[in-house]
Amino acid sequence: MTKTDIKNFTLEKLLDYVVELGQPKYRAEQIFNWLYNHLSFDFNEMENLPKSLRMELSQKTNVQTLNIVRKLDSPLIGTTKFLFSTKDNNEIEAVIIPEGKRTTLCLSTQVGCPLNCKFCATGLMGFTRNLTVGEIVDQYLLTAREYGKNTITNIVFMGMGEPLLNYRATIEAIENFTNELTKGLSRNRITVSTAGIPDKIRALADSGLRVKIALSLHSPFNDVRNKLMPVNKKYSIEENIEALKYYARKTRTRITFEYLMLDGINDRDEDVQGLAHLTSQLPSKINLIPFNSIAHMNPGGFAASLSPSPIERISEFADKLRAKNITVMLRNTQGNDIAAACGQLAIQKKL
Ligand code: SAH
Repeated sequence: MTKTDIKNFTLEKLLDYVVELGQPKYRAEQIFNWLYNHLSFDFNEMENLPKSLRMELSQKTNVQTLNIVRKLDSPLIGTTKFLFSTKDNNEIEAVIIPEGKRTTLCLSTQVGCPLNCKFCATGLMGFTRNLTVGEIVDQYLLTAREYGKNTITNIVFMGMGEPLLNYRATIEAIENFTNELTKGLSRNRITVSTAGIPDKIRALADSGLRVKIALSLHSPFNDVRNKLMPVNKKYSIEENIEALKYYARKTRTRITFEYLMLDGINDRDEDVQGLAHLTSQLPSKINLIPFNSIAHMNPGGFAASLSPSPIERISEFADKLRAKNITVMLRNTQGNDIAAACGQLAIQKKL
C-alpha cells in the first residue's frame, strides 16, 4: 500500500481525511498543530492523539517528504544552503539568508525549471517535475526545526522552478504557512517571484492570499527580454504589466520588479527610460540585482556572452531611476542579495 503524504494536505483536506478515518474533526487541528507549531516529524510525539490513531497514521501516512542531504555554510556572505533529496531521488535546494533582524528562507517549487532563462543556472538543468505541497512545506519545516520556529521570518519563492507553473501546490503551501491556527507567517512576509504568467498572476490576486509578488523583469523591451527569457515570447511584458496592475489593485500591495544588471544588455540610458515608463504605471519598486556569473556551468550561445555590469554603472543606473522618483533597492553585495543568493541554485552533481 502506498502511503499518503500527510504534508500534502491543507488543514481543510486534513479535516476530510480524519473524518474518513472515522475520527472527530478536531483531531485534524491537533495534528496540524503538531506539524506546523511543534515542527513534529513523528506521530509518536503527538501525545494528545489516542495511541491507536497514532499507529494508524504511522501505517497509512508519511510525515516527512524530504531528507537533508547536506548543509553548506557560506561564511563570507552569511547564507546557508540546504540540499534535500526527495523520495524519488531528486535533489532540490533552499537557502537561509540572515539579514539583520530578519531571516529569509528562499525555497524551490520545481525540480529544475522549464523556462530556460539564459542567465539562470537552474534553467540549464532542464525540468524534471513539480514539487508536491509536502515537498514545498518540508523545506520550511525542516529548516525551521534546525533554526527554531520563530527564527525564519520571511519566505521567498525564488529558488529552483517557476512557482506559478506549479500553481496549486504553491498556493496550498502558502495557505499552510499562513494558517491562523498555528500563528504562521503573515502574508506580507511571503513573496512569490515569477518570470510572468499573466493568468496565474490574476488567479493569485483572486485567491485572497494577498502575498507579495515580484516579477523578474530584466529588460523593459520585448526584443531583449525574448532573448533573455524565452517565456516572454508567449507572455509579453505588456500582458504581465496588465496582470500586475490587477494584482496591485486587488490586493493593495506594491509590486517588486527584479532586475539583473547585465553589461551592455539592460544597463543603458534607454533602459532607464523604458523601465521608468513601465514601472510608473503601478505602485512598485525595483530591486537591482548584481548578476552572478554562471560561467562555471559552461552555458552555450547567448548565455555565454552575459557578464555583470560594473558596480559603478549599477549605482549610476539606480541614481537615474531615483531622479525619476522611482523607488530602487540596490545591495552592494558580493552576492548576499536574496535573488542573487538563491537565483542561481542548481545542483551540480559530484563527478
Ligand atoms: N522562476 C521565478 C523564481 C526563480 S528565479 C522567477 O523567474 O522569478 C529568482 C530570481 O533569481 C529571479 O529574479 C532571477 O532572475 C534571479 N536570478 C536568476 N539567475 C541569476 C543569476 N545568475 N544571478 C543573480 N540572480 C539570478
